[in-house]
Order: sequence, then C-alpha cells, then structure tokens
Amino acid sequence: MIPVKSKNELKKVKQAGVIVAKTLKFLAGKVKPGVTTKELDADAALFIEKSGGKAAFLGYHGFPAHICVSINEEVVHGIPSGRMVRNGDIVSLDVGVELEGYFADAAITVPVGKISKTAQRLLKITKDALYKGIAAARCGRHLSDISFAIQNYVEKTGFSVVRDFVGHGIGLKLHEEPQIPNFGKPGQGVKLEAGMVLAIEPMINAGGYEVEILPNGWTAVTRDRKISAHFEHDICITDSVAEIFTI
Ligand code: MG
Repeated sequence: MIPVKSKNELKKVKQAGVIVAKTLKFLAGKVKPGVTTKELDADAALFIEKSGGKAAFLGYHGFPAHICVSINEEVVHGIPSGRMVRNGDIVSLDVGVELEGYFADAAITVPVGKISKTAQRLLKITKDALYKGIAAARCGRHLSDISFAIQNYVEKTGFSVVRDFVGHGIGLKLHEEPQIPNFGKPGQGVKLEAGMVLAIEPMINAGGYEVEILPNGWTAVTRDRKISAHFEHDICITDSVAEIFTI
C-alpha cells in the first residue's frame, strides 16, 4: 500500500521540503576548497535547527551525523569527517528534515572549482535524469515508468545507474513504500495516484554500476572508484504535472 496523503499532510511535508531546499542552497555556498565535511555537517545542523526542523538522518539506523556528504567515488551515505574538500572534487550533499512529525529529503551534487569534463557531464546528466523521472511521474501511469525514464535516458549517455540504492515514498516516515528503482521495464508496479509523495533519486556512476560499502558500514563507493553523482527531489503526484516539494 502506498500512502496517499491528506491535504493537511501534504502541506506539512511541503513545509519540511522547503527547509530541506533552503539547507541545500545554504550548504552549496559553503562547499569550497579547504572546508571539511564535518564543518559542513555542523553548518547544516545549525541551519536546520534555526529553521525549526530536526536533522532526520541523525541516529537513523545509527547514522552518526546530520547530513550525508559523499565526495567523488563516494556514491551515498558519506559520513562527515575531517576530510577536506579540494579543488576539482564533486560533492554530494544529502539532507533530510523532520518538521513536526513530517519528513522530506533531497540531494544535490556540487562542483568544487574547476572539475573535469567528465564530471561536468555527469552532473548534468544526473540532474537531467532526475527531471526525466519527475516528468514520468504522472497520475495514472505506473511506478516503473519513472524507473524506465531514468535508466533509458542515462544508459544512452554511457554512464550507469546504481542498482543497490533506490528512491522511496516519504512523508510520515523518512522511508515509506514504495521502493523506486532507477532502472526497470515500463508499465509495472502500482498506478500513481494524486497525493502520493515520492523521493526520486538517481545515483549515476561515470563507470560501472557496481558499488561496495566501506568498512565504516555506511559509505557506498563505486567498485571501480570512478566518480558518482546524486540528485534527489521529493515530489507530489497531482492530476497534472508532479509538484516538487523540495524546491
Ligand atoms: Mg532519499
């Protein structure tokens, strides 16, 4: 069962989404050579608190920080540390916020200084893939139409779609039904209905799609250690185009 939210619930999830979006925008301005990922985490913690929300990732299944910061070959779930951001890096920031019991979650990948041509292309294609997925998220279409739209677009570029992590429903919990893979055949899964809130989050690798988990038990990196990017929005299915909540 995929939860369909009431008008009031949707309003609350959107309010949490606005805080997520503002936090990401704020953090993007802080990502500069020399900053440590721990400093970004502290900045995020303060910003979210001042906005009236709670960092939803802190303590989630034991996650030890407020946000995820994943650099270069790190795909997702990078743990903030003393690692310094450097010129030429790409830095994925993933932020989740709880506001009065409602949840939102989004991610962006930002370039640091001068990045390679491949990195520039990867960022553009990953962001475009997210919007292809959002465009496919229409009332009456099937869940896997989103998955197919993303995979079909990305694989034509020569990049690959991560299999081991997927998008998800969101709103009353950080992760709800359904799972939303970024790959698959069209026309499968439930029919989308107005009032569903979905986190769509393509994770795209410059090399192969395989990932592995570092010994810290959290951070996923590409097996071939080539770079990876991640963009995510929470969207609400409506009678026409989906509404983006994390903007
Ligand atoms: Mg998510």
